[in-house]
Amino acid sequence: MEICKHKWVYSRSDSYWRFAGRNSRDYYHADYYFCENCLEEKVVEKMHSCYDGETWKIPEWAKTITKKVAGYE
Ligand SMILES: [Zn+2]
Repeated sequence: MEICKHKWVYSRSDSYWRFAGRNSRDYYHADYYFCENCLEEKVVEKMHSCYDGETWKIPEWAKTITKKVAGYE
């Protein structure tokens, strides 16, 4: 069997933030891709943690995240 030279195609994204502790937050973003030849999937993840009072310091990609999931609270 030949080894696939994957050709990745963007599939979807998932992102959210949550309280990770009394004064801290975790931001999470994942981009999913699939190979159009063999249909293998890969995910590229980003994470960022910050203090609750320092949300102005978070990276641009995290600023657009509005979906909140259950965490420490
Ligand atoms: Zn492939």
